[in-house]
Amino acid sequence: MDLELTPDHAVFRASVREIAQGVVQPLAAEVDRDHRFPIEAIEAATQAGLMGVLIPREFGGAGLDALAFTICIEELAQACASTAVIVDVHTSVGTEPILLFGDDDQKRTWLPRLARGELLGAFALSEPSSGSDAASLKTTARRDRDGYVLNGTKVFITNIGHAGLYIVFARTGAESRAAGISAFIVPAETNGVRVGQVFHKMGLHGSPTGELVLEDVRVPAANRLGAEGQGFSVAMRALDSGRIGISGQALGIGQAAVDETRALMRERGHDEGDDFTLADMAARVESARLLAYHAAWRCSRGMRFTREASMSKLHCTDTAMQVAIDAVQVAGDEGTLSGSPFERHVRDAKALQIYEGSNQVQRVVIARELLRAG
Ligand SMILES: Cc1cc2nc3c(=O)[nH]c(=O)nc-3n(C[C@H](O)[C@H](O)[C@H](O)COP(=O)(O)OP(=O)(O)OC[C@H]3O[C@@H](n4cnc5c(N)ncnc54)[C@H](O)[C@@H]3O)c2cc1C
Repeated sequence: MDLELTPDHAVFRASVREIAQGVVQPLAAEVDRDHRFPIEAIEAATQAGLMGVLIPREFGGAGLDALAFTICIEELAQACASTAVIVDVHTSVGTEPILLFGDDDQKRTWLPRLARGELLGAFALSEPSSGSDAASLKTTARRDRDGYVLNGTKVFITNIGHAGLYIVFARTGAESRAAGISAFIVPAETNGVRVGQVFHKMGLHGSPTGELVLEDVRVPAANRLGAEGQGFSVAMRALDSGRIGISGQALGIGQAAVDETRALMRERGHDEGDDFTLADMAARVESARLLAYHAAWRCSRGMRFTREASMSKLHCTDTAMQVAIDAVQVAGDEGTLSGSPFERHVRDAKALQIYEGSNQVQRVVIARELLRAG
């Protein structure tokens, strides 16, 4: 693995940074304060083609690789963590299942609209009684003539209310747990699709999270992704690469905390204690970045990357949390004030240790991968 970015990746980073610092970052504090969807940021990302980073050119996307995607999310998160999670979920778990498991018709129907940002993607797996143990989900998809009828409630769905399309996981068979689950493309405008409660979270205030209620939602069989009973594999594969995106979010938050701490120390002065803290913060973020880029590099080359993606998600998100806390410590009292970027990073970083598989679950995955035969 070459540890230098290729010229193409470096140029891409510079182009994302221009939008991130020019349009996205100036909105971050307001979006957080007002709990509002960063529409201008998403429009700018759309115009720059960032909603279709991973979608092949033949379907209207940029056709870039997992490393470019990681860099994109990292740059956005450095500017505004809410904007980054919206784009991340859309691009990875909200779109990739169609890319990886869709048939030709599904790809031709949905990918161009997702690439153009005409539709925002979302991923609906979690339920009130199934988070980490996703295989125990209860939403049903009953066969009915030439389609399915879906019933159930999904919770903590990112992009709720703004998504034009949800990838929904539901039980199609009597088989227990994972074997009975199938995946469906459910357009938001389908009859019976409703937004339930929208949650107020401690952070990521600009990223809407809430309940997706499905009441007698009729979808054609053509909207089933993959075979009946393949849904759990669709979800797990989507989450593998999704974890690289979460790593990008964490790197962005961590780097922002490092940069703001450094700027503050230069302006205000610093003692040796601050210097050591800053050095540890920067070293942690740099080591996390190497893990994330390595996982992305393996993914781009079609190599196995489950273990690397989980290690990266675990280390990057723990690093973001630690570094954000350290930054408040160096900033002192002013770092605790509402509206200060220091306190925002702490609130934003926390959910990253929980979603797309909590960090305890990442350890379960890593241990399983390490103990696999071979
Ligand atoms: C901001 C936010 C956005 C989200 N967006 C989405 C989304 O878009 N789509 C979606 O489907 N879901 C989404 N989620 C849900 C998220 O994926 C779940 O929160 C996550 O899977 C953990 O499930 P849980 O919260 O129900 O925790 P639980 O599964 O109830 O776990 C509680 C605690 O027990 C630990 N634990 C559980 N099982 C094990 C185990 N086997 N070994 C060790 N420890 C264990 C967990 O680590 C955790 O600390 C989102 C969550 C948040 C907070």
